[in-house]
Amino acid sequence: MSNIHIRTRFAPSPTGFLHVGGLRTALYNYLFAKQNGGKFILRIEDTDRARLVEGAEENIIETLRTFGLDFDEGPIKQSEHLKRYKELAEELIQKGVAYEDAGAVRFKMPKGGVTKFIDIIHGEIEIENKTQEDFIILKSDGFPTYNLAHLVDDHDMEITHVIRGDEFISSMPKYIALHGAFGWELPQYAHLPLILGKNRAKLSKREGEVAVKDFLDDGYFKEAILNFVALLGWHPSKSDKEIFTLEELIKEFKLEDVQKAGAIFDTAKLDWMNSEYIRQKSPRELLAYLKDAGCPFGRPASKSGDLEKIIALEQPRLKKLSELLEKTDYFFREPEYEAVLLEWKNMDNNQIKNSLELSAELLKAVSDKDFTKENLEKIFLERAKDFKDRGELLWPLRVALTGRKASPGPFEIMEILEKEKSISRVQNAINMLK
Ligand code: GLU
Repeated sequence: MSNIHIRTRFAPSPTGFLHVGGLRTALYNYLFAKQNGGKFILRIEDTDRARLVEGAEENIIETLRTFGLDFDEGPIKQSEHLKRYKELAEELIQKGVAYEDAGAVRFKMPKGGVTKFIDIIHGEIEIENKTQEDFIILKSDGFPTYNLAHLVDDHDMEITHVIRGDEFISSMPKYIALHGAFGWELPQYAHLPLILGKNRAKLSKREGEVAVKDFLDDGYFKEAILNFVALLGWHPSKSDKEIFTLEELIKEFKLEDVQKAGAIFDTAKLDWMNSEYIRQKSPRELLAYLKDAGCPFGRPASKSGDLEKIIALEQPRLKKLSELLEKTDYFFREPEYEAVLLEWKNMDNNQIKNSLELSAELLKAVSDKDFTKENLEKIFLERAKDFKDRGELLWPLRVALTGRKASPGPFEIMEILEKEKSISRVQNAINMLK
């Protein structure tokens, strides 16, 4: 295969925001073009006027940019080529292979025989022509159907490889017959497997049947989404490697290794992948990412150093950055909770109060300068020895600080809250028990 001529295209219909399946198609087209030194082209298939959605085209372009899938040519819009489709439809009428039917133009599908073709992913495919009917190529509104428009453009744009979803396989006899009628050479085809939900059924809204933008807004990293999408139907044949940058994918992706069977969209895997990316970054990078995303993390007056410390506390357990807001809200406002949460095992109210009063006393004795995680830990663990178990001292304290059943430990939290706020929260808890 001579590399210089390879041209692929991503040809979405602007009928909605870009979904995971569309992103995968775009990615595979991009990877294949780039690894062969070819061109990746964006074509907007806007011929179905009734289904156009405002903002969809902008969203598609913006999403491709976000993921670094820069196109070399385009966007080319089909609505700008109406004359060309019309002329070609007329040419087919002249040739006697198409006819007018109530204002629309239909192509006469050969009735007998089989259509055979090679698909890069599926190998040889045979489909009986009798499965097809005569089909509309130009509608009465003067717009072409997908069946005509896509292959005219693939021809005119000198597309060498058509990489698209499986759902088009069953119509291949139509496309091959049309190519034959025009006397055009076929491009090569690679049909990508369906993306299925966890139960092998159609994707649901909770899974990938959601705009890519929603995943981004939900706090998934673009690198994680792209990495995850790359593995929806492909993985390296000789290794178990799962974490890939776009550059690595360009090198390692192989179109012929794409699987035939449906690819399962596993949200748990996306979460895992995202948490891998979260752990790879420094708290500073994560903070910058949140700011860029316009995420309202922290307060206007919060010091970045504090925010980085807060991020570092949660970073090991985060699946999505967006969880950070909810998980750390107690740093930014007074916690709200029921007094029963202060109870550790079978402690009664008096014991809890005594425990908290001791905590307040211990905290008051520490100077601002010494109010560090290490120091606090030393002081409290020493005193905790006087209790039946250390939870009796540390649980009520931690709940007083956070209002939560689960959180990081009290010492790192107090270092960030600082002395005054730590003591006032302990005092508030004591007051709740009065
Ligand atoms: N507009 C079609 C779609 O969005 C494109 C299919 C193709 O790539 O040929 O499904």
